[in-house]
Amino acid sequence: MAKFKNTMEIFTLLDKSNCRKCGKKTCLAFAASVFQGEKKLGDCPLLEKDIIERYEKDELPEDGHPVRSIIQENQDAFMEEMKQKISKVNLEEAALRTGGKFDGGKLTIKILGKDFSVDQNGAIYTGIHVNPWIAAPVFNYILHSEGKEPTGKWVAFRDLKDGRERYPLFRQRCEMPMKKVADIYTDLFSDMVSVLNGKEVAREFQSDISVVMHVLPKVPVMICYWLPEDGLDSSLNIYFDETADRNLEIGAIFSLGAGLTQMFTKMAITHGYEVSLDANHR
Ligand code: SF4
Repeated sequence: MAKFKNTMEIFTLLDKSNCRKCGKKTCLAFAASVFQGEKKLGDCPLLEKDIIERYEKDELPEDGHPVRSIIQENQDAFMEEMKQKISKVNLEEAALRTGGKFDGGKLTIKILGKDFSVDQNGAIYTGIHVNPWIAAPVFNYILHSEGKEPTGKWVAFRDLKDGRERYPLFRQRCEMPMKKVADIYTDLFSDMVSVLNGKEVAREFQSDISVVMHVLPKVPVMICYWLPEDGLDSSLNIYFDETADRNLEIGAIFSLGAGLTQMFTKMAITHGYEVSLDANHR
C-alpha cells in the first residue's frame, strides 16, 4: 500500500458517507484499518477506480521504486512553487506589511501565536506542524497581504470579495464539519483557547460561545457556536475581519478555514472521539 503518513491522508480520499459497504462502521474506521494494513483501498466500493489504481501502483512498483503518493507529489510541487516566489520577495518589506519581524535574514510571523519563519530560499523554520492547508494561506499572506489592519468588524465568508460563489463549498467543507466536531468534542473551545492561542470574547451575534484566533497576525478568525435549543439544531459560523480579503486571496481564506477544520478534527480524534466530516451525509 502507498506510504500514507497517517489515517487522515487516507480519509481525505474517501466518500465519507459511512455507508458501511466496506464492512466498517465509518469511513474513518476504514481509513484506520487501511493504514494498519488490515484493509485495502479497493475494499471501499465507492472509491473511484483511478484513485485505487494510482495507489495500487504503489503496492506493486514496476521498477522496484514505489511511486510516491499523489498527496506527497502535490505538496512537493506546491512547496517548490512557493519557494521560488518567496525568493523574489523583499522579506524586510514583507515584515512591515505582514506584522512580522525581519531578523537574521528571516521573516518571522506568528501563526496561532507560534513563530513561523521563512528565509530568502523559502526554507521554513517552525515548531508547529505545517499541513498544506495552513502553508498555502501563510505563503499567500506573505506574497499578497496589503498590510491592512483589522477593523474589528466581523463578516461572513460570503461577504468577502469573491466569497459569495464559493460560500456553499465553504459551508460544506468548513463550517458544517467544524460544527460536527464542536457537537461531540466538548473540549473544543477550551482547547482552542489554550492550545491554539485563542481568546474567548463577548458573545457575538447572540451565540453561546465566541472564540477569536489570530491565525495570522492581521487575519483574525472568529468562531461562533450556538447550542441546540427548543428542538433547533446547533449551529456554527466562521467570521473574518472585513479586511481579510485585503490580506489574503479568497482561495487562501478558504484554505485557512479548511486547515482549522482539519486541526480541530485531529484534536477531537486525539481525544478519542470518532468524527465524520462530511456534512452532506448527516
Ligand atoms: S470507506 Fe467506503 S465503503 Fe466504507 S463506509 Fe466509507 S464510503 Fe462506505
